[in-house]
Amino acid sequence: MTRPTPSPTLHIDWTRCQARGACLELLPDLLHPDEDGYPLPAAPARQRTNIPLRAAQLPAAQDAVALCPRLALTLRREK
Ligand code: SF4
Repeated sequence: MTRPTPSPTLHIDWTRCQARGACLELLPDLLHPDEDGYPLPAAPARQRTNIPLRAAQLPAAQDAVALCPRLALTLRREK
């Protein structure tokens, strides 16, 4: 029996993010800006640091990781 593949999450390093907004443009159904322009989960989430991704969101999340000017984003596989 094989274990299910862990779901990917988008990790935001809050020590690096400076609210430049590229991720908000690439992932409008996943992230919404707070009043200062920092990205927050659009849907209720357990936490705002590791945001669960649907499979259809993965390509845009990979683009956001590559384009974040502050290198604040990484993809992780949560167990
Ligand atoms: S693109 Fe990077 S720096 Fe800009 S808001 Fe998103 S995480 Fe923060």
